[in-house]
Amino acid sequence: MMHNQTADVVICGAGIAGIAAAYHLTVVHGLRNVVLVDEHPPLSLTSDKSTECYRNWWPGPGDAMVALMNRSVDLMEQLADATDNRIGLNRRGYLFATADEARIADFRAAAAEAAALGAGPLRWHGPGFADHRETGRQGDRESHHSGLATHFSSSPHLPISSSPISGLSYQPAEFQGYRSRLDGADIITDQGLIRQHFPYLSERTVAVLHARRAGWFSAQQLGMTMLEAARAHGTRLITARLEGVEVQNGRVQAVQLRGEGAPQRIATEHFVNAAGPGFGAVGRMLGLELPVFNELHIKVAFTDHLGVVPRHAPMLIWTDPTPLSWTDEERATLRESPEMAWLLQTFPSGVHARPEGGGNSNILLILWTYHTEPVEPTFPIRLDPDYPEVALRGLAEMLPGLRAYFGRTPPPVVDGGYYTKTRENRPLIGPLPVGGAYAMGAFSGFGLMAACASGELLAAHLTGSPLPHYAPAFALSRYDDPAYQLLLENWGASGQL
Ligand SMILES: Cc1cc2nc3c(=O)[nH]c(=O)nc-3n(C[C@H](O)[C@H](O)[C@H](O)COP(=O)(O)OP(=O)(O)OC[C@H]3O[C@@H](n4cnc5c(N)ncnc54)[C@H](O)[C@@H]3O)c2cc1C
Repeated sequence: MMHNQTADVVICGAGIAGIAAAYHLTVVHGLRNVVLVDEHPPLSLTSDKSTECYRNWWPGPGDAMVALMNRSVDLMEQLADATDNRIGLNRRGYLFATADEARIADFRAAAAEAAALGAGPLRWHGPGFADHRETGRQGDRESHHSGLATHFSSSPHLPISSSPISGLSYQPAEFQGYRSRLDGADIITDQGLIRQHFPYLSERTVAVLHARRAGWFSAQQLGMTMLEAARAHGTRLITARLEGVEVQNGRVQAVQLRGEGAPQRIATEHFVNAAGPGFGAVGRMLGLELPVFNELHIKVAFTDHLGVVPRHAPMLIWTDPTPLSWTDEERATLRESPEMAWLLQTFPSGVHARPEGGGNSNILLILWTYHTEPVEPTFPIRLDPDYPEVALRGLAEMLPGLRAYFGRTPPPVVDGGYYTKTRENRPLIGPLPVGGAYAMGAFSGFGLMAACASGELLAAHLTGSPLPHYAPAFALSRYDDPAYQLLLENWGASGQL
């Protein structure tokens, strides 16, 4: 027997995206009959696997990503204010480091671009300020030749205009709290200052860029805070698998679910696809081929019992391509093994890490995605047994103290999930070409930090409320614009770590 129900809105996916949508629809817009469907417990597929970091530091073209993230951070700060910081929001920042003098020009250009896009001003500490004044174009050239393009792009589409400030003293980030008003970035080229504040970085480090409206928080608490409020305002959570969406005359009519009991049919005029890595599959239930693909990203948690990375450290990112360090003997052995010889290559830039937990914790999270080919999402995810060792050895280039763990690595905890991405690494939020159907997906590696503003944007679309200026940049209809297609052909960096 089939159970029939009705709902104003059915959202498929109780990850952070679906939960943020339900929160804004019920708590902010006052809808009462919203159903959130998931075959798994809330937040348990991808949203609890993240590094839980945020930043307003994103490349162009245009200011859409910076504006979305600034709005999302505003909303997270409001939630933190309202809950005595239940979400554990901090403002440690992201610290990009390099051992390559030539890359300072990239730092300068990226900071100038970020300032122009609304991420906040650049403060310069140390020599080289004048040398790197006119480096916007040089930064472009460098970043396309180096791995830095992954993180920074001096967009060719935006004029770079900013007035860097020098002569101010560098203010380190606070251990806890999120109320610092410091935004933008500090570039430090003064070697004494780098050693004073970041003595754990490689002595080869010649410059760091500290992006300030950035840090991390508890993704679980952010999700549960919004889910509890959404449920208190009428959201119903149903544990079931979405098996079909009924569409008639180009409009959504109902969804079909299969859970533990009898199959269910929920009649609804509004359906939101927030299915995370299932975004493409759920799109096909609507008869749509959505322009997304999936990449596997893995995270390692190590016990740093030697305290190599201090607990107050910011998010640390090494921006140089990195060979792994091996002894001569190890090198010779690897060279002789066809299966292992790849470990002698130079790996791409971007290995990053941060301390996890409070003052008593000694956990270090490490991420380094050196394989980014698209894959079909399958669960459980496939874990590369070499990954923890490779990630640790790569990170040791930036944090040489970690070499003490070589050959006696404490047993790591490894997990991860899929980045569901569009080709230009921007999300899909807004109406789909089936009446009543909406996209809330392609959140790649930024779904947690973007969740609050994305839920707000989705709810504004669905309720016909005024839209923010960045709405068109995230709508599926952007691909219908020939000018956007042209832009895509010359798209710079994705900004993704
Ligand atoms: C290793 C790693 C590190 C990351 N680090 C960060 C970070 O530091 N900061 C950041 O902001 N982001 C980060 N991310 C990205 C972030 O985790 C994701 O963008 C975000 O979790 C995506 O949320 P989602 O709700 O779209 O997807 P999910 O959390 O996967 O939720 C989708 C839900 O849909 C459900 N579903 C799918 N199909 C069906 C169906 N047919 N029927 C019923 N239910 C269905 C699934 O069960 C799932 O629960 C990271 C991701 C990874 C993997």
